[in-house]
Amino acid sequence: MSDKNSIFCLSLKELETFCIKNSAKKFNAFQIMKWIYSAKVYDFNDMTNIPKSLRESLKSNFNFKMPEITAGYREDADDGNYSIKYLIKLNGGSAIESVFIDYGKRKTLCVSSQAGCKMLCDFCSTGNFGFQRNLTSGEIISQILLIENECKTKITNIVFMGMGEPLDNLSEVKKALEIISDPNFMGVARRKITISTCGIIDKLIEIKDLKYKIAISLNASNNYSRNQIMPINKKYPIEDIVKFISSGKYFGHNKITLEYVLIKDFNDSINNAKELIKLFFPQNVKFNLIPFNKFNKFEIDNADPAKTAGGTPPKNNYERTSETAYNNFQDKLMKAGFIVTIRHSKAQSIYGGCGQLIG
Ligand code: SAH
Repeated sequence: MSDKNSIFCLSLKELETFCIKNSAKKFNAFQIMKWIYSAKVYDFNDMTNIPKSLRESLKSNFNFKMPEITAGYREDADDGNYSIKYLIKLNGGSAIESVFIDYGKRKTLCVSSQAGCKMLCDFCSTGNFGFQRNLTSGEIISQILLIENECKTKITNIVFMGMGEPLDNLSEVKKALEIISDPNFMGVARRKITISTCGIIDKLIEIKDLKYKIAISLNASNNYSRNQIMPINKKYPIEDIVKFISSGKYFGHNKITLEYVLIKDFNDSINNAKELIKLFFPQNVKFNLIPFNKFNKFEIDNADPAKTAGGTPPKNNYERTSETAYNNFQDKLMKAGFIVTIRHSKAQSIYGGCGQLIG
């Protein structure tokens, strides 16, 4: 069970309503939010410009309970960058993971939006582990507050690439992002926040004007292959993704990223690259090629079957693409004029790489 009385679950609007109901000023809500998210004051007694009676009502209605960091695993890269995977225990017992990646000036946090996931992508450990519950907006925000405090730093970039499908928990994700992106509160610019989705098109349409960066996990170059690894493709096939992107005047110069996990002898041939070019040229997209990360099959095999949402057991016999196939694939797309970034998944040795998060 999530904690609905957590103050971190309140939007500015909800807090305004609370203030007015308690015979205080609407503006007090803004002040309280400033105390919490800008000054990081987690005690109503210390909010000195808030009327005493309002502080008393706040105290009897809300708490500052946050989830708990239970472990952190650090991995240092050769170039001086490092990442830390944090295990976080939610109220009620489920666990999630958040990964902090330090690239010098850029401090990125990979956050979770759900404990587990319902999407059942066959190559992803989170999906294979099943679904427990949605996170509240407070639990999403807490990941940032907890880790900023732990690392004594300010998070500059946020990616929703941890556990879960953010568009399957959109109302809480949107609510959290209002506070995270508000310059008066947590102040992470929208252009530095990426929402990564398996491609729930109806929900993508809902967020298209919000100016967050969008990444779509494509992972295959035709419906036949995509159907095999991503069940969502049966509902929203590749044509729907192409149509969504091609109708996207609203993205401005913000290109949509297409994430593509390269799996050996499955989706990594030159023919696959050609199919992608045919589908997406000359559209406003860039490709992010991700090496496939293996995950720990032992843990999956021992997962509680009641929690695997009725999905098929993982095949989990995928292998990482060879270096040569990887380079050829990248070359082909680049020669066609696409921007291609490669992701040397951080935190792999600590199982904090993409698709390895199983709490
Ligand atoms: N549900 C969202 C966000 C979580 S997955 C989404 O689908 O985008 C974040 C990224 O990790 C996705 O691009 C996904 O394709 C990738 N990923 C999942 N499992 C992986 C694995 N085993 N190896 C490498 N990348 C993986």
